[in-house]
Formats: sequence, C-alpha cells, structure tokens
Amino acid sequence: MNRRPLIAGNWKMYKTCEEAAETAKKLTEFLSPPPENIDIMIAPAFTALSTVASVIQGSCIALGAQNMSWEKEGAFTGEISAPMLISCGCHYVIIGHSERRHLFGETDEVVNRKIKAAIRHNLIPVLCVGETEEEREQKKTFSVLDKQTEKGVEELSSTELATLVVAYEPVWAIGTGKTATVDQAQEAHAYLRGVIEKKLGNHLAKSIRILYGGSVKPNNIESLLKMPDVDGALVGGASLQAESFRDLVLYNQ
Ligand code: PEP
Repeated sequence: MNRRPLIAGNWKMYKTCEEAAETAKKLTEFLSPPPENIDIMIAPAFTALSTVASVIQGSCIALGAQNMSWEKEGAFTGEISAPMLISCGCHYVIIGHSERRHLFGETDEVVNRKIKAAIRHNLIPVLCVGETEEEREQKKTFSVLDKQTEKGVEELSSTELATLVVAYEPVWAIGTGKTATVDQAQEAHAYLRGVIEKKLGNHLAKSIRILYGGSVKPNNIESLLKMPDVDGALVGGASLQAESFRDLVLYNQ
C-alpha cells in the first residue's frame, strides 16, 4: 500500500507567538508551490496555535498540538481540550511523547484516554512510543513497544483508528544527536506494524503511517525514509528553524 509520508515538526516549549509566526511565515514561503505527495504538520506551543493557524491558512502545512486533555471541558485548571484545539485550527495532536511520559508521569492509561478523546473529536492522533536506552540494553525494546502500542489503542476498533499515526521515538535518540541506524529503525517499525496487524488486522497495519523520531536532520532523513516501514518523521530540534524544516520536507528534491 502506498502510504503518504508525513513530516511533522514538534516545536516543544520554544517560540513566543511572534517567533512562531515568523517561522511559520517563512515556511509558507519556502513550501510554495506545495511539494507533491507529502503531508506536513507543525506543532507549536498552545499559546501560538491561533497565530500560526492564521499564518499557515491556505498553505500545505497542517497544524498540530503537542498534547491535550482527555476531558471535553470542566474544572481542570491548566488543561486544554480537543474542542479548544479544533477551534484553534488543529488537525493533529501528538500524544504520549516521551517527554510527557518521563517528565510529567503520563501512563499508558492516560495516553489511551487521550487517544480516545482525540478520535472522538476527529483529531488525528500521533501516538508516540519508544524504549529508553536502559530498556534497549536489557533487550526490552519489543516488549516496551508492544505494551505502549497495545495499551495506547485499547478498546478502539480498526475503523476508529483509521487515521492514527504512530511515531517510533527511541528515548535515547530524542534531542541527543544519536539517531537510530536505519536498520534499528526499520526493525522497530516492522515490529510495530506487526503489533498493529495482530491487534487490529492487516488492512490497518498496511495503511497506518509509522514515523521515526529521534535526532532526524536534513542529512539523515533520506536514508531513514528509504526504509520500507518508515513513513515519515517526527522532528524536534531540526524543525525549529524554517530553513532546516524546509530541507527535511524537501529531502528528495
Ligand atoms: C521529538 O521531539 O519528538 C524529537 C524527535 O526531537 P529531536 O528531533 O530533537 O530528537
């Protein structure tokens, strides 16, 4: 099956509204006319979503958020709901990023609730999974991927998960400059596709996009995306500068 690659930029807790608008504006200029056969998404901080939405309106760039609450509304100080993200112009939401799991204690159960809420509200969830360095050394990579994926999509059907995107992000490669080798990435992606197949069937396994994340740069993206089960990239550091994000998106041109 022909899976359309997705290149996604996670801006993390960087950029004021003005800085975000400036980067987004440059991107709209760099990516016009739009590159063919590729989906592009940027995920600024919550505070810059509306501003960036108006800058990228009408362009080939979609808007994503970096997190959200599983609740629709209520007395949940500091939280942001799916309807709020939609009203800001979001189409995607990153869920279960390793920084949320490891720094803010997000469990698989929380991740599952958020995935369900995203789907209920027609946001495209990007479910992040990945092992720590210690887990890899202890040969626990596959069991971690099994658990995070299975629990992340628990109680959801393949129809409900039709738009799901999975991001394989080995924790030891995020923001460290250490990238997984193409063989390590391919092995993990093929494994994840197998987990999806076992749990949700062949059709979803074939159509689902599995992104690689972890120190992706303009000089390594092409070799990663050549691997048969790598369908795009989730990029932190190298997405912050418009020039380098452009080079990632146009990796094969
Ligand atoms: C990320 O934030 O999801 C990420 C992969 O970061 P970096 O590209 O900086 O490793």
